[in-house]
Amino acid sequence: MTDNKMTDSKAQSNKKLDDVVVKARRDSEVRGHGYREQALNMYPWICGRCSREFVRANLSELTVHHKNHDHDFNPSDGSNWELLCLYCHDNEHQRQTEALANKGIALGGTKAPDAKFNPFADLKSMMDDKKKG
Ligand SMILES: [Zn+2]
Ligand SMILES: [Zn+2]
Repeated sequence: MTDNKMTDSKAQSNKKLDDVVVKARRDSEVRGHGYREQALNMYPWICGRCSREFVRANLSELTVHHKNHDHDFNPSDGSNWELLCLYCHDNEHQRQTEALANKGIALGGTKAPDAKFNPFADLKSMMDDKKKG
């Protein structure tokens, strides 16, 4: 729950926060490659939910899920990792989001899952651009 820490001083440090977010994202990308590779070396390439098997050609669809939902918690024994296909991973987080929502906790906007690609987002910004021009 890293987002909760930032709510207090949000207004005055927005600019600073942007820098922190950019840096944190870059760091987590670097770290991200590390734990993904470790997890793929450690576990068979099979989705932990639907048992779909993966090969190198479609390995990009197999993702590393953090069981405690903390991406910064990466013990080297792999105990916090679970290999899930994109669909099951999405499902897993959907359930987590709903569980939090039921408790009245909303997830911060900055950590929206990348998997939720919106095909109309580009279209809309293109239309906005046209209006401006
Ligand atoms: Zn699956
Ligand atoms: Zn996950």
